[in-house]
Amino acid sequence: MTERREPVRMCVICRQRFAKSQLLRHVPAAEGAAGNGLEADETAVKTGRGWYVCQSPQCRERFAGMKFRRKSQKGSKNGKNKSH
Ligand SMILES: [Zn+2]
Repeated sequence: MTERREPVRMCVICRQRFAKSQLLRHVPAAEGAAGNGLEADETAVKTGRGWYVCQSPQCRERFAGMKFRRKSQKGSKNGKNKSH
């Protein structure tokens, strides 16, 4: 009876739950890196927020097509910043 329960994570695409080992973890990619803003974290050792995608080809495809922009982008569209 040494069975250990695996942590469960949710696929960000289909929102189904899987054992963590069945999901591919992604973390924010380095600035200026190619791709959708995330990179696969195959070793799952990087800290911080992770995005998990299941092994479904559809989910992989949709995930690759998603854009993950950093929040630290400058230049808001509505320039209503008249505080004076
Ligand atoms: Zn999925």
